[in-house]
Amino acid sequence: MTAYPQVKMLIAGNWVAEGGDGEMPIVNPANEERIGSAPKASKAQLDAALAAADAGFQLWSNTPAIERFRVIRRAAELLRERAEGIARVMTLEMGKPHAQALGETTGAADLIDFLGEEAKRQGGRLVPVRSHNLLEQRVTQEPVGPAVLLTPWNFPINLPAKKIAGALAAGCSAILKPAETTPACAQMLTECFMDAGLPEGVLNLVCGDPAMISEHLIASPITRKVSFTGSTAVGKQLGALAAQGMKRFTPELGGHAPVVIGESADFDRTVAACAATKFRNAGQVCVSPTRFLVARGIYDKFVAEFSARSQKLKIGDASQDDSVEMGPLAHAGRVAAMQDLMGSMGGDQGEIVSGGTALDRPGHFFEPTIIASPSPESRLMTEEPFGPVAGIVPYDDIEEAVRIANSLRYGLAAYAFTASLDESHYLGKSLRAGMVAINHFAVGSPETPFGGIGDSGFGSESGVEGYLGYTETKLVTVAKSAP
Ligand code: NAD
Repeated sequence: MTAYPQVKMLIAGNWVAEGGDGEMPIVNPANEERIGSAPKASKAQLDAALAAADAGFQLWSNTPAIERFRVIRRAAELLRERAEGIARVMTLEMGKPHAQALGETTGAADLIDFLGEEAKRQGGRLVPVRSHNLLEQRVTQEPVGPAVLLTPWNFPINLPAKKIAGALAAGCSAILKPAETTPACAQMLTECFMDAGLPEGVLNLVCGDPAMISEHLIASPITRKVSFTGSTAVGKQLGALAAQGMKRFTPELGGHAPVVIGESADFDRTVAACAATKFRNAGQVCVSPTRFLVARGIYDKFVAEFSARSQKLKIGDASQDDSVEMGPLAHAGRVAAMQDLMGSMGGDQGEIVSGGTALDRPGHFFEPTIIASPSPESRLMTEEPFGPVAGIVPYDDIEEAVRIANSLRYGLAAYAFTASLDESHYLGKSLRAGMVAINHFAVGSPETPFGGIGDSGFGSESGVEGYLGYTETKLVTVAKSAP
């Protein structure tokens, strides 16, 4: 039986169990039982975290890159060593099946490794001079300053890990605010960095009311960078706050990923990959495939097979059973959102082929749901569902598929399956998204940039971009003498 830790904040190197604004309950979404509580930071505690991050920045930005790398690499090693225990806590907090929780945690260690190594590699560049009197034009990437990192509950290790590692590698200090429902994962990740030898104050962790905390931290003149992962609506609000202080802002927001499935695609492998990926993390993934656009010749067969596979998924409390394939939704609000979405699907809006209801058992469970031929105007086809719901639409020619795929303001991930080289080239060029994957669904590797366009945000995390996002460009140009 996994014990849920006592959640503490980390402020100026001190672990703080008591919130100045009280505490908030933490509930296991698989059985709705209270498993613990987390402190709610007061403004005074936030100010202490800001002061620590300010001092931490002076220290860390002047620490040689090789030393920053060594601390970050050690944190990744500790995360790998502790992955099993952390994954168990993740399942308790947000319901993710164990194999997925473990994969997320070890994958996050790889992300930390990659970003830490960038600290050693990013040396800036020398630009050729235009006159004999000029000795040097040196362009460097300077750490931007204390960063505020705001993360959601759906990947409670991966998302904080890539923000923290990018910030620390670049020489920034940081204040992390995790989602209200998953503070223990954030605490265990923070412990890895502190146990790796990170100096006090360089990384701080605060919990509590998201609106109050984000407004207070973003408004502070100490904060120079804000990185947020979450909904488009909140991202726009936070972007407006960051703009008032001319602060760098990286929003990684919602998506509504299309999947174009051509007639030439390997049918069995494609439908298996679609079913496995759609219901990963119960569909609560910003790059989850949600709009399946299928060539008419294979449409009926695809709907039938996708639905059959979705109904075979083992659903349950993953904290009790490692063979569970789909856990609960993260909180009651997500079930209500799914029910609301289903309520909108009546009449000519689409046919519910399978699923469509909440499970009649304790916990926030919702059935894997397949909807055939949803109308283009339906809520399912226009709003991010963020749950275990797939809409499947037939298309007649590839241009029509691309038109539907590109019809929304979201642009995070897009996918396609085809055996045709021509089609693959055309789709890679014309699908409008920050990330396009053809014949697979993996867009989150440590080495490659992860980010969207349009209403899905801007900027990238992971890859070299995940480091550069915490820097600003500086030119130093030196002449022999005054002209
Ligand atoms: P929600 O908007 O209540 O919360 C989502 C996340 O945003 C939480 O982590 C919360 O802490 C944070 N948040 C909310 N208001 C905030 C504020 N003012 N300042 C800072 N952080 C704030 O919605 P929910 O029902 O919990 O989640 C569902 C929605 O959130 C989905 O529609 C989805 O778009 C979005 N979401 C996106 C991602 C992603 O990876 N892009 C992850 C989780 C949630």
